[in-house]
Amino acid sequence: MYMKLKFIFLLIALLNLNALTGWTQNSTVQSIVEKVELDSLTFFVKQLSGEEKVFINGVADTIYSRHIDQDGNEKAFQFIKQKLFSYGHEIDSQQFSTNGKNLFGIKTGTVFPDRKLIIGAHYDNRPAINIAPGADDNASGAAAVIEAARIFSRYDFPFTIVFAFWDEEEQGLIGSKAYTSFAAANGDSIIGYINLDMLGWDGNEDFVADLHTRPIAGSIQLAEKASEVNSRYSVGLNLNFVNPGIGATDHAAFWSNGFTAIGINEEYSNDFNPFYHSPADSLGQFNLQFYEKCTKLAIATLAECALDRNLVLSAKEQPFAKEMFKVYPNPVGHYLTIKKVTQGLNEYEVKVYNEMGQFIQMSSSNENININVSSYPTGTYILRISSIKGHPLETKTWIKL
Ligand SMILES: [Zn+2]
Repeated sequence: MYMKLKFIFLLIALLNLNALTGWTQNSTVQSIVEKVELDSLTFFVKQLSGEEKVFINGVADTIYSRHIDQDGNEKAFQFIKQKLFSYGHEIDSQQFSTNGKNLFGIKTGTVFPDRKLIIGAHYDNRPAINIAPGADDNASGAAAVIEAARIFSRYDFPFTIVFAFWDEEEQGLIGSKAYTSFAAANGDSIIGYINLDMLGWDGNEDFVADLHTRPIAGSIQLAEKASEVNSRYSVGLNLNFVNPGIGATDHAAFWSNGFTAIGINEEYSNDFNPFYHSPADSLGQFNLQFYEKCTKLAIATLAECALDRNLVLSAKEQPFAKEMFKVYPNPVGHYLTIKKVTQGLNEYEVKVYNEMGQFIQMSSSNENININVSSYPTGTYILRISSIKGHPLETKTWIKL
């Protein structure tokens, strides 16, 4: 692995692609990780689990339970929505049953706005009574996603980031299934999903966290990335790879629909929270250091992916194993040719961006495309090829002499 990394670094140095890769942007990821605040995280957990007041439309209130049959479920939705709004994110929601509503904060990407990285957690809980704090399951995950939304609001990313809050997970992943089946039917470009469900319990203090993955789309690669992130940023968790990952939480809905996904959570198999689904599931039971580390791992993995313009994890991102287009010559002096390799492809469009991610020009055709780049300044450029409906097909990097 070390040799492989060195080789990639050498290539990057030769091609002067520094600004295009995540590998050299460690300082940004590092600064994002350093912004994770345990005080902020635990305050959100307290608010979601009834230990602290929340303000909803300016009125003080308390969320005593987030179970689907309790009014705290809707209060939690409103509370999180206001948080996302206060960080400047676009808000969206999806009503999928009488009382079931998923919530989304969206930060639109600067280069690839229709390609999404998603971090998510379910906000509903158990037991089905009027005082059910559900601090570990799953205020811990929901608070970590709010913390990600808080920190990511201060940066720009090439990809769109979605902060997702699922409802009715406890009834059988109903919210996340509704979202992913719609996304699959719609041809959405989801390049990776990170699920957070129970991050607070480490009863034996061994700092072991689970990393759930399956051999579906790029899920194994995403888990490997999380593992690299754990060492590169000295997060300090002992990661337990679970493959095939469990089906009992929201990452499974992504796998079922062929999307890249991982789950980060406390060790389900050997060190399970004994207060799970009971009225005693409170912040007082947390191992706070462990909780902070799990949150840092999730946020750093998301940041690492979000800053890597050449990121390709998901098989859904590569509908054909072979390349569909040839772009030549590279480097180029005057005319750049985009040649279709795949037969039967209809009209497609190409968009050119400079190294800073600024849009330069676009063309579309159902034949080959020639672009006159004589007047382009010397440097590295990105060519984004998509179907006429905007579905991404391929991304190429090339150099203007
Ligand atoms: Zn849960």
